[in-house]
Amino acid sequence: MNLHEYQGKSILESYGVAIQRGVVVDNIEDAVAKAKELNSETGTEWFVVKAQIHAGGRGKGIVTETGSNGVVLAKGLDKVEDTVKGILGGHLVTAQTNDKGKMVNKVLLAEDVYYPGESEPSEFYMSVLLDREKECNVIMYSTEGGMDIETVAEETPHLIHKEEVDPRLGLQGFQMRRIAFNLGLSGQAFKQMTKFVNALYNAYVGCDASMFEINPVLKTSDNKIIAVDSKVTLDGNSLFRHKDYAEMRDKTEEDPIEVEAGEAGLNYVNLDGNVGCMVNGAGLAMATMDIIKLSGGNPANFLDVGGTADAERVEKAFNMILRDPNVKAILVNIFGGIVRCDRVAQGIVDAYKNMGNIPVPIIVRLQGTNAEEAKKLIDESGLDVYSAVQLQEAADLVKKLIN
Ligand code: GDP
Ligand code: MN
Repeated sequence: MNLHEYQGKSILESYGVAIQRGVVVDNIEDAVAKAKELNSETGTEWFVVKAQIHAGGRGKGIVTETGSNGVVLAKGLDKVEDTVKGILGGHLVTAQTNDKGKMVNKVLLAEDVYYPGESEPSEFYMSVLLDREKECNVIMYSTEGGMDIETVAEETPHLIHKEEVDPRLGLQGFQMRRIAFNLGLSGQAFKQMTKFVNALYNAYVGCDASMFEINPVLKTSDNKIIAVDSKVTLDGNSLFRHKDYAEMRDKTEEDPIEVEAGEAGLNYVNLDGNVGCMVNGAGLAMATMDIIKLSGGNPANFLDVGGTADAERVEKAFNMILRDPNVKAILVNIFGGIVRCDRVAQGIVDAYKNMGNIPVPIIVRLQGTNAEEAKKLIDESGLDVYSAVQLQEAADLVKKLIN
């Protein structure tokens, strides 16, 4: 599950990571009022206004309606209103969204922390994630923080360092110091950085995250180390023990069909091909997608209907698949182990009749318990449904019917 920047920062703060003062708002009046409050509490004159969407690259992104960027510095209390107007309620297009962009429902209003002082502010990159191959957590970091870490990774990969952390031992003091050293820090900033890394690592482990990415980590002109941005992915399987984080889910950021599927207990992922798939079991679903590809087709979705493929569930699944306008055929691949094939076949026939007209052909491959009865049911249904015994045969049939 992905979080918004402001949510990630609230978690970071609870683990002792330093962040700048700020508030999230969803309307202009609140923005102006909160800016005044921040001004009287912290003395800040300048504010940064940041679109809260589940996509990075906001600083360089453009709000379609106004031409504003998604992260803008308001240089004065009197500039807050117009700055917020330029972002809130618009559609922000970034390198990580599609060309329609994402609707900005909330903005984060925060004090500017790039103020001048004894040294120049500098931006670092830092992330914590899991390295499955090495079976450890990794802290990736670089002096080249800011907006273009992808370019750094491509053109100057030696500038990205990695610190591997054995999860059984946890992050060690010497590792925190090595990171601060490699970032070229000394004195107060060095000490602050070791604290920062420690707190960040604790946050990552403590909330069962699969990723924490902070870009930039800022060294302020007075040598504080602050998380200016946060991109957090939590492990969805751990949410049962983090009820407070589970509530942070923002369904408006997710694919609406995927949300609906989740609520119906179906495991659905939208893809960009034209063959709709309905399969029982995640492994079989993957194999089905492979064979569609190998036969020259392209899957439109991943869909695991689970163990009980009765008429009601099949109908829900068909409805979901058919909402994708690219779908030209549906391949049903069911292995009857615990569930009997004839029951699934009956489910398909009943769902079909109940739905009336289905505009694309359905190819059904049933294997396992009572497969023969199932095939008979399909073949004698008189519907635009075709049966196949072998998976390859089914994939070839799909290809033929699409062309
Ligand atoms: P992203 O573009 O989605 O990654 O959003 P960020 O939160 O990283 O912000 C983009 C850029 O805005 C940062 O790299 C900073 O250079 C700049 N920025 C963020 N916060 C501040 C701030 O408080 N003051 C100033 N002057 N610039 C900021
Ligand atoms: Mn960033």
